[in-house]
Amino acid sequence: MQILNGLQVAKTIKEQITQEVNTLKQKGLRVPHLAAILVGSDGASQTYVNSKEADCKQVGFDSSVFRYDETATEQEILDKVEEINNNPNIDGLIVQLPLPKHISELKVTQMINAEKDVDGFHTISLGKLLKGEDTFIPATPYGILMMLELYNIETTGKHCVVVGRSNIVGRPMSVLMSQNTKYGNCTVTLTHSKTQNLESFVQQADIVIAALGKPEFIKGSMLKQGAIVIDVGITRVEDSSNPKGYILKGDVDFEDVKEIASAVTPVPGGVGPLTRIGLLKNTFKSYLKSN
Ligand code: NDP
Repeated sequence: MQILNGLQVAKTIKEQITQEVNTLKQKGLRVPHLAAILVGSDGASQTYVNSKEADCKQVGFDSSVFRYDETATEQEILDKVEEINNNPNIDGLIVQLPLPKHISELKVTQMINAEKDVDGFHTISLGKLLKGEDTFIPATPYGILMMLELYNIETTGKHCVVVGRSNIVGRPMSVLMSQNTKYGNCTVTLTHSKTQNLESFVQQADIVIAALGKPEFIKGSMLKQGAIVIDVGITRVEDSSNPKGYILKGDVDFEDVKEIASAVTPVPGGVGPLTRIGLLKNTFKSYLKSN
């Protein structure tokens, strides 16, 4: 069984981006700039934003993080989004979700200028994706496409079963896998919590993309021999033997599937690092479009 190593792939792509940024600097040009808005003090959200900031620094991008207390008003956040929309020196804007309950996520994400929507969550971005037009692909599906491409995984004519239909992972992924593209052209089954006999669908899959957020849900007995398994899930599971008090688990029972699958992404070190690359690539894309 092959382990699809996201860390290795991410390292290679980061080096390529760094070289391109160095070329811009040598020419005396401005570098790409990613801005993030973070509201509240949720630990996981802070970790995500910090890692995005670190990624920018590593490849030579500029980055800004606008931090707000839990008590910030919706209007304050909308005003900041507008200010960033109008700032020609900022190429990409992400608003870290979830937002506190009194702030509408829909209103805020829709306020982002679609030209700077590097998370790809805006209705315009998702609509373009659905029609196969050039757009910002949400970072996680983008990362999965990179993984398929870099490991040259044949997808044409294969049956891909996506488990989970969220707007940020499962649904856009199902669209991408069905498109008439080199790393698409699958027959796709999109499943969710109301799917009956889920196992019977997974059993038919040549490619399984698990994005449901239930640790170790996919077992070896559910798979067809030789299936390719992409594990998107990341859940913190309590573990007192770990200094952090938890360990990260994917949606796939790695030990159980490894005798059956032909290739699997590990957690951590699989899809996660490539998701971060997806955001960098989208920011670079926005920069190139406006320069
Ligand atoms: P959501 O909670 O938004 O969506 C989960 C989806 O899974 C829903 O569509 C839900 O169905 C479906 N689902 C839940 N239980 C079952 C079940 N028993 N059988 C079949 N389908 C089920 O999650 P996200 O899409 O945001 O994230 C999914 C996982 O991926 C999480 O663990 C998250 O942490 C991780 N993640 C990882 C990223 C990375 O970089 N690697 C990035 C983003 C997310 P229904 O619609 O019916 O409720």
